Amino acid sequence: MTLVRQSRDGGLKRRRFLVGAGVTAGAGALARHLPLNVIRPATAADPVPAQAHTEVRHTVCSHCSVGCSVEAVVSNGVWVRQEPAFDSPLNMGAHCAKGASVREHGFGEHRLRYPMKLVNGKYERITWDQAVGEIGDRLLKLRAQSGPDALMVIGSSKHNNEQSYLLRKWVSMWGSNNCDHQARICHSTTVAGVAQTYGYGAMTNSFNDLHYSKAVLFIGSNPAEAHPISMLHFLHAKELGAKMIVVDPRFTRTARFAHHYVRIRPGTDIAFVWGLLWHIFSNGWEDKAFIAARTHGMDDVRKEVAKWTPDKVTDVTGIPEASVRMAAEMLATNRPSSVVWCMGITQHHVGTANVRALSILQLALGNIGVQGGGANIYRGHDNVQGATDIGPNGDSLPGYYGIAEGAWKHFATVWGVDYDWIKSRFGSKELMEKPGITVSRWFDAVLEDNQYVDQPTNLRAVFYWGHAPNSQTRLPDMKAAMQKLDFMVVIDPYPSMTAAMHGRSDGVYLLPAASQFETQGSVTASNRSIQWRERVIQPLFECKTDHEIMYLFARKLGFGEQLVKNIKVVNNEPVIEDILREINRSCWTIGYTGCSPERLKLHMEHKRDFNPTTLLAETGPCKGDYYGLPWPCWGTPEMKHPGTPILYDLHKSVAEGGLPFRANWGVEHNGEPLLAADGSFTKDSEIDTGYPEFDHVFLKKLGWWAELTPEEQAQAEGKNWKTDLSGGIIRVVIAHGCAPYGNARARCNVWNFPDPVPVHREPIVTPRRDLVAKYPTYDDKAAFWRLPTLYKSVQEVDFAKDYPLIMTSGRLVEFEGGGDETRSNPWLAELQQNMFCEVNPADAAQIGVKVGDFMWVETPTGARLRLMAMVTPRVPEGLVWMPFHFGGWWMGEDLEKHYPEGGAPAVRGEAVNTGWTYGYDAVTMMQETKVSLCRLVRA
Ligand code: SF4
Repeated sequence: MTLVRQSRDGGLKRRRFLVGAGVTAGAGALARHLPLNVIRPATAADPVPAQAHTEVRHTVCSHCSVGCSVEAVVSNGVWVRQEPAFDSPLNMGAHCAKGASVREHGFGEHRLRYPMKLVNGKYERITWDQAVGEIGDRLLKLRAQSGPDALMVIGSSKHNNEQSYLLRKWVSMWGSNNCDHQARICHSTTVAGVAQTYGYGAMTNSFNDLHYSKAVLFIGSNPAEAHPISMLHFLHAKELGAKMIVVDPRFTRTARFAHHYVRIRPGTDIAFVWGLLWHIFSNGWEDKAFIAARTHGMDDVRKEVAKWTPDKVTDVTGIPEASVRMAAEMLATNRPSSVVWCMGITQHHVGTANVRALSILQLALGNIGVQGGGANIYRGHDNVQGATDIGPNGDSLPGYYGIAEGAWKHFATVWGVDYDWIKSRFGSKELMEKPGITVSRWFDAVLEDNQYVDQPTNLRAVFYWGHAPNSQTRLPDMKAAMQKLDFMVVIDPYPSMTAAMHGRSDGVYLLPAASQFETQGSVTASNRSIQWRERVIQPLFECKTDHEIMYLFARKLGFGEQLVKNIKVVNNEPVIEDILREINRSCWTIGYTGCSPERLKLHMEHKRDFNPTTLLAETGPCKGDYYGLPWPCWGTPEMKHPGTPILYDLHKSVAEGGLPFRANWGVEHNGEPLLAADGSFTKDSEIDTGYPEFDHVFLKKLGWWAELTPEEQAQAEGKNWKTDLSGGIIRVVIAHGCAPYGNARARCNVWNFPDPVPVHREPIVTPRRDLVAKYPTYDDKAAFWRLPTLYKSVQEVDFAKDYPLIMTSGRLVEFEGGGDETRSNPWLAELQQNMFCEVNPADAAQIGVKVGDFMWVETPTGARLRLMAMVTPRVPEGLVWMPFHFGGWWMGEDLEKHYPEGGAPAVRGEAVNTGWTYGYDAVTMMQETKVSLCRLVRA
């Protein structure tokens, strides 16, 4: 299957055409409606004046993780036009409404323009010197009084990879693990669930690979709105005959394309998946050979699935048996079949278990490691995958190395500092190795009685560094915490709702950060492809790049020299390419080592050479590489590994991008083998059975040690493939056709999790009181991510008698995340002007509202949200749905006057999370935002 592409000459002509001609973003919006093979350059118009210095800069949309390329036309330093990159294999000339309007960043009418501080309830302009000096002095005082763990740093999933990495390093050198970012509350459960099952916490295939799928199950995922350009690829498969199943409580824009739509009761995904497997096992549709050779613990799953007879599935999920059976048959008889999931699966108190159930479904069908199959997990923000891989995570150093002593020693070596110096920066060695407080709960670490907080002090200060507060639940509790803090700092291109919701009269600083178009660096798309963004324009106003701000604060706080030991600094900016080279030298675990700045730039420049189905470069200087070197891109850049387009694919050699499952849990468990069966191995492997991960001892036993150079041997002695800084172990192992991390079985039984085999547990706030005793949630926990966490004691309260409607939330195509950037964009603001709530006609009739009427949504927390009614049968009777991108209102009050002058977004509305209730995943502290209860009152 090959799609028609522009010729190389066509691409060059296109570039010349862009320089001299005007193409509006609307061309991109139109292009998404065209069949893939008729996308062609538009005709020229609106020439730029001849004397202007005009050039095209290659960048990437900064909204979602699809990674659509943008061609930015810059004239005399001004961003004058944009174009959607017809030659990108990811977006092929298409943009959604958000991508088509990113140029608005270049004007920034609602942006922060200069540093400000809150004085007597008003924001006043200050200088950068004053801001860094004053905040730095307060931080040093805080540290002296309470230690480094009194600070929480909430980083950004919109930082590029280099900034994400530098921020984790910054927090480490400050001496704390109290850092986190958006992934905690969008896909932390995916990362934990998939990594513990297969080996890596990431999407296994790619958007493009869906071209090969014969059936796709979209569950808890609405890509037509959340990842619009990904639909370009799926709809191509559908044109070729792929079956489409959509499982969602709400009839979404994605559902309207489905062959089979399944309406599910929120929070019952495990019961549904076990219902699918009940039919699959009953009919013998499972892939027995795959299960025998490549999985561990499927018999334990069979025992649990056997309990989920069709009557029980229907009772719990609300789905008729015939509908479940049809979905099972469509997936099983149209292989390869793929599963796509998003926050409808992940944002639950059982999110990690949900993820694992779907991961197991794909193992049972033999759909992992094959073209057209996979666990295709669409990430949210543009760089949430990259920030998860190497950014500010409280339980790990970059590259999922963890925070045990060995991990700190590895990074101390890479950073060129003493391990003992880093240790001296922390409150204690114990705190250095204890996962930090999460973004989902930071406010509890302010408000909670100190005796229950598992660190010496409560939090006293917070940095919101490129993150929206309205994406977290329980906003009234957050507001109370904001008022109790010593001070807080917002670093962001936009003020965000943080600036307006706190209710303080002082102790708030707003620092203007440059957008991703005002810097350069790499960004990792959901499919693990890494793309290079060129700088489009210089930072606007008095904005500074995030990495410059990190450096300025590090200098003030006394660790500036250590932060940039191996990184050149030019005009106070650590050089981005040098940061990436440090990442290349350290993150062997996930193969962020072969993706040098030079290789990534070459890919961006020659993206027309990559096949839009396979992502393989078929010609040009990148020939043989996969687009964006999807990680793992093994070894050093000089090794020229092509990247890994499909994880766990045995059909290719490791050198060509193949891989087995990862050996990460030993060689056997309870007497059962964990390594792959005899005969299960990647193409060209010299070992034809399962094997453990490689280290210097294993290499010597195999007689391969002599193949390392003397220099490599010196560095690799006593090390394993993850800590050998020479890359020699990886090089030699791959030369023998093996995977550095071993060849194992995927785990269906994760014995170290609260539920080794996923079990259905009723939502914490549930309308089905009759099911609570049979399917209870977990017991309350005393110290979990440094905080006590409630489960049963919340579920035991019967909220349903006063709040009879199920409440759930989701995304809109026009806005993204907390929405500050997109709601400040006049193009997008015009498209979606009011916060609303979808309500079924029967429920609307109960309170007498019609479309456009205002009503109150009241929740068990006591919160009341004033918003418009959207009366529609898209939602079933008894369930309401709200988008989560709004903010700027507080229980009926417009907060406009509380923003700095001119900084309020054009569109403001109630944040759904103002009313959201308590609930957290039992592994990752993901917040529950997909099932709660409410009642409606006419306003
Ligand atoms: Fe592409 Fe996502 Fe940007 Fe839309 S928001 S243009 S789908 S990257």
